[in-house]
Amino acid sequence: MSEDLYIEQTKDLILSVASRCRKCNYCYAVCPLYQSTRGFQVQGPSGILQAMAYAIKWELLTGDEKDDLRNIVYTCTTCNSCTLKCKASCTGIPVLDAIEKGRALLIEEMIGPVPEQKVVLESLFLKGNSYDMPPQKRLDWLKSFREERDLSIRLLPDGKPVDVLLFVGCTASYNSDVQDIARAMVAILEAAGLDYGILREEKCCGSPARRIGEEGLFEELSDYMVEKVMKVRPKRIVTLSPHCYNTFINEYPDAVKGVLVQHYTQFLAELTEKGILNIGTNGVGKITYHDPCYLSKQNQVFEEPRRVMKAMAGEDGFVEMAHHHADSLCCGGGGGRIFWDPEEVNRLSETRVREAQDAGAEVIVTACPWCRIEMEDAVKTLDVQGEVAVKDMAVMIAERL
Ligand code: SF4
Ligand code: SF4
Repeated sequence: MSEDLYIEQTKDLILSVASRCRKCNYCYAVCPLYQSTRGFQVQGPSGILQAMAYAIKWELLTGDEKDDLRNIVYTCTTCNSCTLKCKASCTGIPVLDAIEKGRALLIEEMIGPVPEQKVVLESLFLKGNSYDMPPQKRLDWLKSFREERDLSIRLLPDGKPVDVLLFVGCTASYNSDVQDIARAMVAILEAAGLDYGILREEKCCGSPARRIGEEGLFEELSDYMVEKVMKVRPKRIVTLSPHCYNTFINEYPDAVKGVLVQHYTQFLAELTEKGILNIGTNGVGKITYHDPCYLSKQNQVFEEPRRVMKAMAGEDGFVEMAHHHADSLCCGGGGGRIFWDPEEVNRLSETRVREAQDAGAEVIVTACPWCRIEMEDAVKTLDVQGEVAVKDMAVMIAERL
């Protein structure tokens, strides 16, 4: 398809979705962007749609206000609450699809993304990761762990099929604050005695590129990853990040057909329920669970993580926050926002920590590296370190083995 045709089709799609919005504003009640900002109309789903539609109709894509438009479109966390709400209460228009198409359009028109995200796109293009890190350092998280323990981990491909391919993802590979999630999963796989491995040359799954609107880069990364992954012929793929999970199951069409793809919470539920892992039922205190948007609202994975936590803490040891399941509240890190900090009146991650405290929780359990980073930061900025802790589910389990 020519570039001109692609741009015209993208504009048509946005205009069509925006024209079907009835402006009932039901979606504002569930939009974390609206709830965390000053409450202007453009800081919510319908307002973003209308802003894009007017920019297209009135040819504002090259005018003085293009930076304002860019900031409006990129503040969305891509949590998907609006799409679900619109489907449940009104016309059922694909709000988030249109917002993501808006980002792709802004990239084509050289307006998007925000400067902090441009650096991310460059890093993805040049280094295959979103953190501007050398590719040869991707496996550093494993080095000393491997020296300390006698691990059976395989570095793939090695010429033979593998039962479990652990897809680590960029954040748990490079960010030292959350690398313990990757090591915890390795410890769990060792304890389970499974045949498993990781890729020697893993790159980003492409999710940040697509969320930011850089479709060409997404295609390039996804082609690379599909080829690498399918070469090792895994029976199943287990991802650490809900964002990688979403990419594998929804955005690599047909490429991973016949391979079971699981987020690690689903995998852990299976291991504990089959009795392969014994995680015990004591010593975790009162715990609550922060649903990551890309597991819950994007892919309806609600119960497996809760079953694992209730197995650990008992029914009485687990409490829900005010917002949970499909009504959960975003931590503020999705949609490329982990790479920049738009102005918020009420920080989403702080709201979430307060909700956990109101529910009486001593530990907030996370299942996404970005959620954990956001929530740990909020615990510090609220200065409640002695009152509530943030823990990743895999790390909690690995500590109990
Ligand atoms: S719920 Fe749907 S129709 Fe109503 S304002 Fe939101 S996007 Fe528009
Ligand atoms: S995807 Fe989430 S943050 Fe973005 S407009 Fe919809 S409800 Fe708001």
